[in-house]
Amino acid sequence: MPNFSLSDQVYFNAAQAYDTPFHLYDEAGIRGTARRLQAAFSGVPEFREYFAVKALPTPAILRILKEEGCGVDCASMTELMLAEACGFQGRDIMFSANDVPPEEFRYARRLNAYINLDDLTHVATLRENGGVPEEVCLRYNPGGSFRIGNTIMGDPGDAKYGMTRQQLSQALKMLKENGLKRFGLHSFLSSNTTDPAYYPALAEILFQTGLELMDESGLTLSFINLSGGIGIPYLPDAPATDLEAVGAGVAEKYHSCFTAKGITGVAIKTELGRYMTGPCGWLVTHIIHEKNIYKHYLGVDASACDLMRPAMYGAYHHITIPGKEHLPHDDIVDVVGSLCENNDKFAIDRSLPKTAIGDLLVIHDTGAHGLSMGYNYNGKLRCKEVLYRQDGIFQLIRRAETPKDYFATLDCDPAWQGQCPCTPDCCGRG
Ligand SMILES: *Cc1c(COP(=O)(O)O)cnc(C)c1O
Repeated sequence: MPNFSLSDQVYFNAAQAYDTPFHLYDEAGIRGTARRLQAAFSGVPEFREYFAVKALPTPAILRILKEEGCGVDCASMTELMLAEACGFQGRDIMFSANDVPPEEFRYARRLNAYINLDDLTHVATLRENGGVPEEVCLRYNPGGSFRIGNTIMGDPGDAKYGMTRQQLSQALKMLKENGLKRFGLHSFLSSNTTDPAYYPALAEILFQTGLELMDESGLTLSFINLSGGIGIPYLPDAPATDLEAVGAGVAEKYHSCFTAKGITGVAIKTELGRYMTGPCGWLVTHIIHEKNIYKHYLGVDASACDLMRPAMYGAYHHITIPGKEHLPHDDIVDVVGSLCENNDKFAIDRSLPKTAIGDLLVIHDTGAHGLSMGYNYNGKLRCKEVLYRQDGIFQLIRRAETPKDYFATLDCDPAWQGQCPCTPDCCGRG
């Protein structure tokens, strides 16, 4: 069994209400995760999660997280627009600026969002595009390999993000000359990590670096941003993150680095994406085709355009067949979509129960970096999103794309307007 699942009856009911494929999200699960996170971090002052919008940029979900007290972490103009439209404002928004065009700084400044500066040269860009605020966040890249004990957890030295230690000092000096009063410090050193030692180790680096920078600059350290990276168990037998141990570990470092030295008032922020919504989403599909050549293939009505992680990273996503899970899993199959790309496989050599065309097939843990990573290769249209509300009602929260959406960017081509084989639903000629 996967770590977190709805009952088979819920998948059947959802597939009765909406044509497949669709991503299904569980409201109660998302709210429960947000509350568990807050409880786990109740030992540190002023804790707040800023949900990484890129993981699941759908307004209905962002509004749920807003109700649970979360802010948002944005990294583009449209993510900022989405945040604004969902009612996030000012200090509810973290803008993680890496390689951003200058106008995005201007927009983020107009919203009075926190700016998380990724590079030293961006100090000048910020000054000229909206101005230096009294408080910014700086993104730190300590370089080298990030280890916990003997285990390499990540290779910041190869990552494009953040500033070197020396650049942090320079940036603060320049920012101070332009009116900065307070700063936050951020770093992202490891992705999808279920090891509870990750956040405390990261926290210690940031706490100590923050103290040094405070001494050097004479500025106030107002917050530490632990970023994303807490992982979820994609494999059914993988251990889940012990979130309470993570929170307690961070609180312990907070005490030894800050409280014990008489330093108070440093808030703790996170920007979790995957942990918040990943296990609370499922891609619900039907088996529409079966093929036996050198291998046994099950073709489904979803494709990598709806969920790219297996094709892009070879990521494992658990698969279940509602109503047949009690049967022996002795059929070895590749589960594929319809793209003309041989990596369009949701699973390779997976053991499943014997299936038939028309069976429902559920792909698990698609609630983060799922549809949002989707694309339109082969003219494939991305699927819809359905919310399983906590009152038991299914609600469509994003419709599927139509040919009209796909052709919309051809409105610059007058000849196309005349030739598109369109219906009234298509490019507007009909
Ligand atoms: C992607 C990202 C996150 C979220 O990462 P998860 O692995 O989903 O927790 C948070 N902060 C920043 C700056 C990111 O780029």
